[in-house]
This record gives sequence, C-alpha cells and structure tokens, in this order.
Amino acid sequence: MIDLRSDTVTRPSEGMKAAMMRAEVGDDVWGDDPTVQRLQDTMAERAGKEAGLFFPSGTQSNLAALMAHCARGDEYIVGQAAHTYKYEGGGAAVLGSIQPQPLENAADGSLPLEKIAAAIKPIDDHFARTRLLALENTIGGKVLPPAYVTEAVQLARQYGLATHLDGARVYNAAVASGQPVGTLTAPFDTVSICFSKGLGAPVGSVLVGSRELIERAHRWRKVLGGGMRQAGVLAAACLYALEHNVERLAEDHANAEHLAAGLASIDPVTVQSQATNMVFAQFPKEHCAPLEAWLKERGILTQMLYASRFVTHLDVSRADIETFVAAVKGYFAR
Ligand SMILES: *Cc1c(COP(=O)(O)O)cnc(C)c1O
Repeated sequence: MIDLRSDTVTRPSEGMKAAMMRAEVGDDVWGDDPTVQRLQDTMAERAGKEAGLFFPSGTQSNLAALMAHCARGDEYIVGQAAHTYKYEGGGAAVLGSIQPQPLENAADGSLPLEKIAAAIKPIDDHFARTRLLALENTIGGKVLPPAYVTEAVQLARQYGLATHLDGARVYNAAVASGQPVGTLTAPFDTVSICFSKGLGAPVGSVLVGSRELIERAHRWRKVLGGGMRQAGVLAAACLYALEHNVERLAEDHANAEHLAAGLASIDPVTVQSQATNMVFAQFPKEHCAPLEAWLKERGILTQMLYASRFVTHLDVSRADIETFVAAVKGYFAR
C-alpha cells in the first residue's frame, strides 16, 4: 500500500531492525540502559542542551515538559492549532492542572507577538499564573520564520516566561532551512523531538533541556507511566534514524512538492499549501468519500476530507507519488 495519511506509518527498515537486535540494554528505570543513555546524550549534544530524556511518545514528552515548567494553577500560551493544545487530549489540564491559553495561529503558524503580550496576565489572584510559551516547528509542515522565533522567545523572556518547542518535526525544519538542528532548538528552554515520524523509528521521542528541567520531567515521566525497562531496543532504532534518515528528509520534501504540483494540475482540486513533507488540498465535498474508496481499491491510503492532508515519508517513493496523482486524475476523468 502507498500510505499518505501520515509520516507515522513508516515501518522499521531491515537495517534499523538489525540495529535494534544488536542493542545493548539494561533497566532504564535504574538508569542502566547504555543505548538509551547514548541516545539521550547524543540528542542533548545535537540540540545544544545539558540533558535529554527518552519517552515512549511525543505526547508524553510534551506533557512531562509542560508539567516540568508549570505547577497547578499555572498556564501556558499555545496555538489553537498546536499539537500540545489540540491533539493531546487536553492532557496539560487533565493530568497537570495547567490551564492552556490558546491563541489563533497566523497563516504561517506563528503566534502574533502582540497577541502573546496581551495574553500574559499580571500577578493577581484572579488570574492563572502565566509561566510558559509553547511553540511548534514545523507546524502544519511549515517552518517557523527564524526571526519570528527569536522575537517571540525574547518577548517571553522579558515577561519571565519559560519556552518550550514541540519539535516533533524539527528535523524537517532543519533540513528544509539548511540549518543545524541545534540552531533551531537554541532559543528554547526545552524541546521535544519525535523519532516515530519522518525519521522512521517505530517508537520514541526525546525531550532536551537543562539538567534541572530534565530531572523534573524524569519524575513526571515515571508518574505518567513512561518509565521503560530494556528500552535500548527502541533507542537503537532512534540512533539508527539519526545516522541514516535525517539528510534524506530532503527527498520527502521534494516528493511533497511533486505531489502538490500534480494535484494542482487536476481541475476540481485546490492545493492550499505545501511545506516540507506536507500537502494540504481541497476537494469538492461530495467527492471525498468516493475518491478515498477509489484510491484504496488501487492500493493508496488517504484520509480524504474537505481539506485533506497528504504526508510524504521514507516509505513513499517518487513513483508512488506519480501513481497517486495518476489515480486522482483517473478518478476525475471518468
Ligand atoms: C506526532 C506529534 C506529536 C507527538 O505525537 P505522538 O503520537 O504522541 O508521538 C507531537 N507534536 C506534533 C506536532 C506531532 O506531529
């Protein structure tokens, strides 16, 4: 099957599985797993932070970070479209007693500085204590403008806020902008990075930050049920991904560009945006369900909504993109 629903659908390659088989392991709750340690140290170094912490998911990594930054009755400023607000089951509020202060994202994914400033609450018993600004890069596939990030973090600092980056796809941002990942992570106090997306590992995220913040997150990880034992088999997949699957993200970005150009050439389809490995396109509503079924019959998995997202990844080739575009053309040519 050609699966364009997400970059989470990638399967571990033979080389990655071999690396997992060979992994040296220990009980990581006791701090004994050398492969987990190596991944945490490697990621901390690449991101320019003191320490790293391995998590089973990006959702848990983000939540532990929010809980490390914010106490009960604190709040974080976040985008309406952000994963840490919209797609994590309200975890910060449910499990952390942390109030989100969502703001409308601008078209480029940023949170306008004047809106951030206006949302920061004065010290007053009526208000939650504003503690943290949380951004996301990439967001909807888009790379946050670097100058914006600098200004937003400066603004946060000026008001005494900490900063967190949901960098689930920060490697896509790094490759697309030709910057070392450490340049993109530098402004933030903590950054969460996913290995189970375009990097192609089956499981895993790493949170990086200061030793003090990572120690706090370590406690919350245990509380949240994220303490894993011989997790080196998973960390080995992530280390393999760092070595083999970073530069090749450029192929995914080129494939997404090709996919967008193909869809744009089909009459009733409107391409809304393409950035890094994501394409967003609109299809006439009445065609969504039949087109999705038509594609599935031809071995192509999509999630066809009025505004549909197509994601390229290491299990989608240039030929697969051509097959997909031809199938959509075929559908509308009937
Ligand atoms: C996938 C993703 C996460 C984490 O998701 P998990 O499925 O829990 O690993 C966090 N943020 C963004 C932007 C994501 O795309």
